[in-house]
Amino acid sequence: MSPTELKTIPFNRTHISENELNYLTEAVRQGSTSGDGPFTHRAARLLREMTGSNHALLTTSCTHALEMSAILLDLRPGDEVIMPSFTFMSAANAYALRGAVPVFVDCRPDTLNVDERLIEAAITDRTRAIVVVHYAGVGCAMEIIGELTERHGLALVEDNAHGLGGFYQGRPLGSFGCMSTQSFHETKNVQCGEGGALLLNDAGLVARAEIIREKGTDRSRFFRGQVDKYRWIDIGSSYLPSDVLAAQLTSQLESFEKIQFRRHTAWHGYHKELADWATKNGVSQPMIPDGCAHPAHLYYLLLPDLENRQAFISHLSSRGVQATFHYQPLHTAPAGVRYGRVASGGCPVTEDVADRLVRLPLFADLDEADMTHVIDAVQTYRVS
Ligand SMILES: *Cc1c(COP(=O)(O)O)cnc(C)c1O
Repeated sequence: MSPTELKTIPFNRTHISENELNYLTEAVRQGSTSGDGPFTHRAARLLREMTGSNHALLTTSCTHALEMSAILLDLRPGDEVIMPSFTFMSAANAYALRGAVPVFVDCRPDTLNVDERLIEAAITDRTRAIVVVHYAGVGCAMEIIGELTERHGLALVEDNAHGLGGFYQGRPLGSFGCMSTQSFHETKNVQCGEGGALLLNDAGLVARAEIIREKGTDRSRFFRGQVDKYRWIDIGSSYLPSDVLAAQLTSQLESFEKIQFRRHTAWHGYHKELADWATKNGVSQPMIPDGCAHPAHLYYLLLPDLENRQAFISHLSSRGVQATFHYQPLHTAPAGVRYGRVASGGCPVTEDVADRLVRLPLFADLDEADMTHVIDAVQTYRVS
């Protein structure tokens, strides 16, 4: 085949949900497109139902929800926040912006989640919080981490960007921490381009969170008729998304089951069809511990080494399949070195898996022919 005939499977393609275009039109026509309009309330209600959280505040991104969590924790310069090195930089950034020090802990080699056995040794008298990330939507060891945070009087924050719709021992991911954050970036399971949410599981945080989200004012109370004018109360910023984005998100959330069904079909298709090839080639597939129900956020493979990982990505690319690596360690990143600290013992597992991991295309509209194409491309690679 000539390159122009070659079928290309992108790493991600956004799904247009059933009512999305209608809701967008409706949002634009409703005469007001700023934040906290009717669609924002609808999306927040759907999020509360999905996560069991009593309070969901839509935000402009997961990054911004993390920034709100850092303000809510009243972090002081020099306070420490424990988090995995194997994650997106937004978690570290949010706390570093408050002058706090991210303390990077290694991940488990099986789930790639923070290694719960290493957390306690990283706790000092400056530690204020632990941030967990459920990698690929597979729950961290929440009973152990929950017990640790309680015993040491620390706040627990879940960066649940991958985990919406996932469960740990029957309980929704995002419902364990005093706060958790969601992302609706276009690469996530449900999306509105750029968007996020802060879920508050501790009712005591709600009033202040509303103020922080509204430029430090009590404007939310004003709109509910609880005060007769709104004033500057606290520090904060503008973390409200437009109701147009909330309209897109509402439609996506309403289509959640359909989206999830298709993503699970693709995830399980890869998992089953690639098992023999993986075993023969010394490639590891994802490990899902008992008690974890994941939302098929991503499908990854661990190649034996960096050389094979790079060659594998090139091999797939030459067959029209866009596969990609993932997180690079935060503890060795320039800003990680400058603003953070690595827990003693370092993060050897993080450094190792960051070099070996590949993510395959996974999106709701990946059809059977696409899947066959990806699987064939993978199976023609021989690890050397
Ligand atoms: C995507 C992602 C974020 C950032 O989300 P935005 O909504 O783009 O700010 C944060 N943390 C994790 C783990 C993510 O995957």
